[in-house]
Amino acid sequence: MGKLDGKVALITGAARGQGEAEARLFVEQGARVVLGDMRDDLGKQVAESLGNAAIYLNHDVSHEESWAGFCAGALEAFGKIDVLVNNAGILMTGSIAETSLDEYMRVLQVNQVGVFLGMKAVLGPMTEAGAGSIVNISSVGGLAGVPGMVSYVSSKFAVRGMTKTAALELGPLGIRVNSVHPGGVDTPMLAPIGMGAEAGDGRDIYAGVPLRRISEASEIAQLVAFLASDDSSYCTGSEFTADGGMMAGIPL
Ligand code: NAD
Repeated sequence: MGKLDGKVALITGAARGQGEAEARLFVEQGARVVLGDMRDDLGKQVAESLGNAAIYLNHDVSHEESWAGFCAGALEAFGKIDVLVNNAGILMTGSIAETSLDEYMRVLQVNQVGVFLGMKAVLGPMTEAGAGSIVNISSVGGLAGVPGMVSYVSSKFAVRGMTKTAALELGPLGIRVNSVHPGGVDTPMLAPIGMGAEAGDGRDIYAGVPLRRISEASEIAQLVAFLASDDSSYCTGSEFTADGGMMAGIPL
């Protein structure tokens, strides 16, 4: 028996990183999964490796029409939508002085508008079913400021805020909405900015984290699976942090 037996889950940005780890765990736990991404080759490979329980669809979270196609494809393949994981995201570094309006808006369009459109898109099927779980992936950058990441932090604070508004609006319809706030996760997102498991310049940038390490994508996936499952049936509108203790306080 898996904790997601019988559920149909949509996961955005599932071709690699945390989305891939979530798709693999969800199938292991009994779900059927629709993987969306723009990296078609990778996404197809992941879905194929998961057999009949998974399909891959090309999907750009920043466009409303793409959401319509993604949900229609999911309903055609599996007949219902129980879970949406709004996982897709991009990171651009840059201070306020360095970030152009175009760059700022691009990050908001994917990380913030993408989550808004996703919640809107599954509203119909979930309302009809009278049930659903939406998991929005924010970040510790949605809980505190980070110098040099103005666009990313803005978008992730917005995800946290709209999660709470959505929980208030959708709770009476039986739909739960929560946000997840990972600290550093060892995925391709961090490598280009030297914040992966091995910082390019040899620094251990996780030395100040109480658990003294970056997390694996699979560790975040476990939390997301809990929120997708009925094990979290009384949780909505909440922030779930998985950051090795980074946000716990001041490490004197
Ligand atoms: P990743 O870069 O490995 O994966 C992100 C995936 O999203 C990629 O496959 C990418 O192709 C896809 N994607 C990007 N733009 C898209 C779009 N417009 N439409 C559809 N798919 C799109 O990164 P990750 O670490 O797995 O990130 C997953 C989520 O976790 C993101 O929301 C990220 O902001 C968040 N997060 C990451 C970390 C970290 O340290 N890696 C920490 C906190 C939060």
